[in-house]
Amino acid sequence: MPTYQHTCVRCGPFDVIRPMRESAADATCPTCTEPSRRVFGAPALRALPAGLRGALDAQYRSADAPRVVTSLPGRPGRTQRRATDPRQLRLPRP
Ligand SMILES: [Zn+2]
Repeated sequence: MPTYQHTCVRCGPFDVIRPMRESAADATCPTCTEPSRRVFGAPALRALPAGLRGALDAQYRSADAPRVVTSLPGRPGRTQRRATDPRQLRLPRP
């Protein structure tokens, strides 16, 4: 469930966790029980999974200074292995 920030005119900001369908509704201040309005701030990026956060960071870094490669990357998942049995060397190759 997402977290929404509200501000009470007396007590200041506080967070409310509620379903998205109730995001536009006013919240009651937990201290003075006055109704308060929702305020919009920066998204809570700390809640993202670490892999996604790293990918977004890499995307922002590469926007200004893209990484330059000087050679082709290797093929993932295929490593050359030497045959340990001499009979394997005589097998037909694709
Ligand atoms: Zn209050």
